[in-house]
Amino acid sequence: MRIGVLSLQGGVIEHLNHIKKLGHEGVEVKKLEDMKDLNGIILPGGESTTIGKLLRETRILLPLREKIISGLPVWGTCAGMILLAKYIEGEPDGYLKVMDIKVKRNAYGSQIDSFKRNVIISEISKEPLPLVFIRGPVITEVFKEVQVICTVDDKVVAAKQNNMFVTSFHPELTNNLEAHKYFINMCR
Ligand code: GLN
Repeated sequence: MRIGVLSLQGGVIEHLNHIKKLGHEGVEVKKLEDMKDLNGIILPGGESTTIGKLLRETRILLPLREKIISGLPVWGTCAGMILLAKYIEGEPDGYLKVMDIKVKRNAYGSQIDSFKRNVIISEISKEPLPLVFIRGPVITEVFKEVQVICTVDDKVVAAKQNNMFVTSFHPELTNNLEAHKYFINMCR
């Protein structure tokens, strides 16, 4: 399987390593042509404003949006979730605007803006997964057929809608491969 990782800014290498460990090919997506023949694409964590600006500058934004609307499996981690959301609290406009969720950026107060938690996400695995949050967003509203997959302290931190999967946390920063396995299964 060929899994792209949007490589404009943010935590790219860690995703590529996890894909490789699972025996698949990770492709760095830096320009339009890199999106050819992908089975799925990961939008990594980083700074959504920066990645969003680069998506426009590289002219990847609209073709990527079209591909996702046509069914390309996509997983947004953290900033990637913000890029996929149709609505961002307090901001007039979004980026790819494909997923029926409203997100709040930097949703955890300054003292706990980074933390770790072990949580069972039954959609992904029977074993608890280590969830790492780094200035992450939360989902404050879901619309249409969006399926909530995980909540932590009553906040929605993972969801799925058809070919789209989003997590507020960073499985690529742990040794656990289950979330990557789950996404790669979505790509089959
Ligand atoms: N705080 C970042 C943003 O708003 C997201 C942080 C992350 O991806 N780790 O874009």
